[in-house]
Amino acid sequence: MLDEVFSWPLAGCAPELAALEATVVDDDRAAFSALVASVTGACPVRGTFRVRSSAHGVRAVALTLIVTPASGGNRLEGALVDVGEPDVYHDELTTMLAEMNQISAQLELQNLELEALRHEAEERSRTDALTGAYNRRHLVETLAYEQGRASRGAPIASLLLLDIDRFKSVNDTYGHPAGDAVLIEVATRLRAAVREHDTVARFGGEEFAVLLVGVTDEPTLATRAEVVRGAISARDIAVPGGVALRVTASCGAVVWGGGRAGEEALELADQALYAAKRGGRDQVRLYATLQEQDLAEVEPESLKLARGLALAASVREASPVDHCEEVADVAAATAHHLGLSPAMILRCRLGGLLHDIGKLAIPDRIVHAQGVLGDDDRRLLRGHVELGADIVGRLAALHDVVAAVRHHHELHDGSGYPDGLAGEAIPVEARIVAAADAYSAIRAGRPYQASLDVPASHAALRAAAPDRLDPRVVEAVVAVTSAADRELVG
Ligand code: GH3
Ligand code: MG
Ligand code: MG
Repeated sequence: MLDEVFSWPLAGCAPELAALEATVVDDDRAAFSALVASVTGACPVRGTFRVRSSAHGVRAVALTLIVTPASGGNRLEGALVDVGEPDVYHDELTTMLAEMNQISAQLELQNLELEALRHEAEERSRTDALTGAYNRRHLVETLAYEQGRASRGAPIASLLLLDIDRFKSVNDTYGHPAGDAVLIEVATRLRAAVREHDTVARFGGEEFAVLLVGVTDEPTLATRAEVVRGAISARDIAVPGGVALRVTASCGAVVWGGGRAGEEALELADQALYAAKRGGRDQVRLYATLQEQDLAEVEPESLKLARGLALAASVREASPVDHCEEVADVAAATAHHLGLSPAMILRCRLGGLLHDIGKLAIPDRIVHAQGVLGDDDRRLLRGHVELGADIVGRLAALHDVVAAVRHHHELHDGSGYPDGLAGEAIPVEARIVAAADAYSAIRAGRPYQASLDVPASHAALRAAAPDRLDPRVVEAVVAVTSAADRELVG
């Protein structure tokens, strides 16, 4: 037992305390010193330590100290009480805790490093490796984000599509590394020409897209697009081999809004870019100022697409593809006769080709039914207008044809489907396609109705107006089909 009571003159207690301290195990020395330092007066202080004695080995002791006043000077009084074996796990626990702290600190560090790596990988997946500009994926996601933030129908931002002019000849003449150097410099100049929060993305090989946030009117867009285009051609670009090249780019620009998806706005910017190329390159064209002939020459892609779809539908229906082509021709001629714009004429042609495209999704037994359909089947068949509108609505190039497809079964008196629109409320291209479709069907005949000659078809068509068809449109159809017939006869 190490129990002990002592009383030392305070003035001379230092050597005694030092002797006691020498028996305290190393790990507890600091706590022992702190206890001794805290003895200041009549309040006792107490602490527990492990001490090492030659007779008893390591023991835990409780030490109580107090300073008491006495005639010969203050004294330090104390009591050492042996409290038994020290906790054998104490050391191990302390070591384990220290190790765990170290491991946890290392884990935290590794987490930070991983987070940094993840961030870097995420940035890399959004960045074009050659130019450091954002890539197409990032642009598409940014467009979706901006669209989500905008209120419905409001202008959101502007989009530029820039394509380097005759870039292939840079590669061909100076080699691929020269081409790469041009791409890198163009990206740098684009970045410098826009504001911090605008997005510059490499959209394709030598094509860049720029999203100009907050630019929502045409005059501002025209100015900004000109600045961006000018930044590319401002100075020659030095490429490997000591050559300096004059590089220009063509630019298509569009104000994006009105509920359009970003992809559709890109499609419009692309049409404007195409017009800029055809206009002689090194220039900006705004989609809003494109002339109808610009559009008309861009549109054949949409016509090719529409013809392909119409062919698929006619094969499925086992109906002659001529029917759609005839409706398309009559609808386009009618629109022309009515003095409508080339864009509308094209829309009518596409509507004629695609009006029944939704039948692709209607069951065979209904499409091929010979007799009168039951109520359920009729309802299903009527669904072809909405299905058709959905199909063409998903194709950016055919977006303008949605109304013609959706409304070609509306009737002039409002008793048609799907929306029961009447008169002028029915989009004009749908009224035209409906009349052209009716004319073609009357002329060709149906399984239960003989085909009619032109005058009889005209009479039947006129009989359908004004309840079902727009009489003015009917007269235009009559006029253009009479002329066509005269041409045929001649
Ligand atoms: P236009 O004025 O009509 O745009 O003509 P263009 O020659 O610029 O257009 P075209 O589409 O014919 O050629 C584009 C070229 O860009 C072809 C392709 O080899 C090149 N290209 C695409 N990506 C890279 C690239 O990463 N590095 C280099 N050096 N060339 C590229
Ligand atoms: Mg190109
Ligand atoms: Mg090019």
